[in-house]
Amino acid sequence: MILKFMARQCRVCGFPWLISNVMSWNDNGTITIVMQPEMKAVILHQGFIDALFSGIGARLGVSIEHIAFEAQRNAAKEVFDSTFNMIPGMRFALRFKPVKRFSVRYFNLVASDCGMCHSDVVNFEGVKSGVSRITNPFYMPMLAANVVGAFEAMERVPYKAEWEESGPDTYMLKVEQTGEKPEIAQRMDLHIEPSLPGKGRLESCSHCRAPRGLSHLEWKPYDGMIIDSRTKSRVLLLDGYTVSAVFREIRRELGDEVDELLMDAQRQWTIAHVSLLGLTPTTEPLSPEKLSEAYVEYLSMLPLHGHGNPVSFKAEDGSIELVVENPYDPFLLAGTIKGLYEALEKTESDVSREEVRPGVSRFVLKPA
Ligand SMILES: [Zn+2]
Repeated sequence: MILKFMARQCRVCGFPWLISNVMSWNDNGTITIVMQPEMKAVILHQGFIDALFSGIGARLGVSIEHIAFEAQRNAAKEVFDSTFNMIPGMRFALRFKPVKRFSVRYFNLVASDCGMCHSDVVNFEGVKSGVSRITNPFYMPMLAANVVGAFEAMERVPYKAEWEESGPDTYMLKVEQTGEKPEIAQRMDLHIEPSLPGKGRLESCSHCRAPRGLSHLEWKPYDGMIIDSRTKSRVLLLDGYTVSAVFREIRRELGDEVDELLMDAQRQWTIAHVSLLGLTPTTEPLSPEKLSEAYVEYLSMLPLHGHGNPVSFKAEDGSIELVVENPYDPFLLAGTIKGLYEALEKTESDVSREEVRPGVSRFVLKPA
């Protein structure tokens, strides 16, 4: 009954009730979890996830699946731990099987509303193990890690996961209690830092308070997907820490020289994204007015996606300077802005970035 209530969608804008009540779109370029206001979330594109985890792995010649798994496991555990800890009496109630069953169904609802997958419990033996059928996972290793992290938050012991394909985009996922976490998991702790305040104003739905700037999102909770109706591409809501933790660990394993590769993957993906959005309709250079409109349109999406708050933008003699507060990941954002610049100005570029003060990054782009 409660879950049915939580699964409703806003009759005005279609936003899932759970998302508009559990998450907050703030005036400082962040999306946070209401019960733990320092815990950030972001909207990411499926194309970005594919470019990062499949593309980068292929270009580096190593698999980064295990790194992504461990980063996501820690992040999911943190999110669900905070949920359980904030509800009075919940830790005690979690000793009982019906409450555990309710929690697992809640995990499934969160996964489908966040566009991660559709999940059905096939077999739930309580604390020891469980089997689910997963359809349309956004990226199976990270999805499995989410389930493991959720179970670890519920039971407070380490779990492991294994899965096998059972049909088109469908997997049987088994999670099971295990003794210890691998050593790498200890290094993947989240770096949760406070955000700077901001004055950005996002218009919101009069009925559910979800941001109106996201009205192009089509929520398909039964399929476990969210579609950006402008580009027909899939997006998802994810914690705001996994990708940075993965970057940190790849750098630790492979050295700083991977920075260029990571930034280039993001640059290439952004160029394709700008084109899908129809911001570069011809191969001719845009007029100064159209150019400025295109920058404003793309940059206005940053706060809606929880990627940061653009507070200053200057364009002069073919160069641009942009200041962003609370960037989701300054390094990733440098790749985004480089891609945006190159797509709109139709020229290769040099980007420099500097942390003006904690939580504030300045990016300067010039033709190469
Ligand atoms: Zn609404």
